Amino acid sequence: MHKPVPQPTAHTRPFWEACNQQKLQFQACKRCHTVQLIPRTVCTQCHAPDLEWKESAGKGVVLSHTTVYRAPTPAFKADVPYVIALIDMDEGFRLMTNVRGAPPSAVAIGQRVRIGFEARGETLLPVAHLEPQ
Ligand SMILES: [Zn+2]
Repeated sequence: MHKPVPQPTAHTRPFWEACNQQKLQFQACKRCHTVQLIPRTVCTQCHAPDLEWKESAGKGVVLSHTTVYRAPTPAFKADVPYVIALIDMDEGFRLMTNVRGAPPSAVAIGQRVRIGFEARGETLLPVAHLEPQ
């Protein structure tokens, strides 16, 4: 069994194409300047369809995190325990991703992270790495 891979749609394809170039993008509303991720066809605040893609600097802070000890499928068995975190990115959008390169006990709310990318099949997925304290 393999891990699931992204299945890009018309409105998520730009996000995944950017990931494959190791760039994290988010959407910004041209009308009310709300920023958002996951990709949508309209602004979550004013519902305008006038969205543009912007590139994130890839830095943020841990808002919340949890550690997975029981693999959801056999494909994740070698990964446990692993950390899933909500990251508040400096540009104002929120990203849910894995924290890599650190034991679960090292992850804490408020820690600075930077986004990197790791391969999953033919796609690169954004993951968070803890910044040195
Ligand atoms: Zn808007």
